[in-house]
Amino acid sequence: MQYSYSKLTSFYECPYAFYRNYQKHEQGESNLFASYGILVHSILERYAKEELKLEELLDEFTSSFEMNIDEPIIMFGKDLTPSYFDKGVTFFSNFKGFWGLTPLESEYRFEVELGNNTFIGIIDLIAQDDEGNIIVIDHKSSSKFSKKDLKSKSKQLYLYAKAVYDKYGKYPTELWFNHFKNDYIEKIKFDVRFYEETIQWALDTIEKIEACLEFEPNSDDKFYCSYLCDYRNNCEYKQ
Ligand code: SF4
Repeated sequence: MQYSYSKLTSFYECPYAFYRNYQKHEQGESNLFASYGILVHSILERYAKEELKLEELLDEFTSSFEMNIDEPIIMFGKDLTPSYFDKGVTFFSNFKGFWGLTPLESEYRFEVELGNNTFIGIIDLIAQDDEGNIIVIDHKSSSKFSKKDLKSKSKQLYLYAKAVYDKYGKYPTELWFNHFKNDYIEKIKFDVRFYEETIQWALDTIEKIEACLEFEPNSDDKFYCSYLCDYRNNCEYKQ
């Protein structure tokens, strides 16, 4: 079987949504938060691949925002569209390149072995510093993670580190989350022990998925149910 980080975490977020997506293959509905993220990812990718120049990024963001965000971004009754626009403008106004790093790969698609399964993913950016250290970077449209959530969220980049090892023969020295909406980089020093724990977590999760017979709904997270879940508009369990 083939697994990805979102497939593994989706099982914990809501087993029922996991079932509809990965077992029934039901087409869900995307959301404007995802569209916003895709838009910024695409601009950074084209910059990394030298298809856009630094001085073009801000204009590209403003025109793409108007084209792609074609309805208000509403959360709990509040229109967040102007704030999302302004935050993108701030990020691209302040952006002076990839923080002194040399991009090696942008939107790098990989497939690695994970136990008897395969693990796939797309790494937003693999970059190198002046000393040859490799940094894995994920661009995030979500707000900065709390201290409590950071360790768990970092599992995504630890799993990506496996693909870096397979490609370059060494692990990255740092894992970064580029929270572009906050214009903030979260830097995590690579810890080989937590890497091993994360690989074990992924293997244990796969075992749970493969043993699962009842994919129960989890409607505890109102924000996830109301705004992020692909089945939010046709779920009988949503409260
Ligand atoms: S709307 Fe909520 S309960 Fe329903 S599938 Fe999505 S996350 Fe699960």
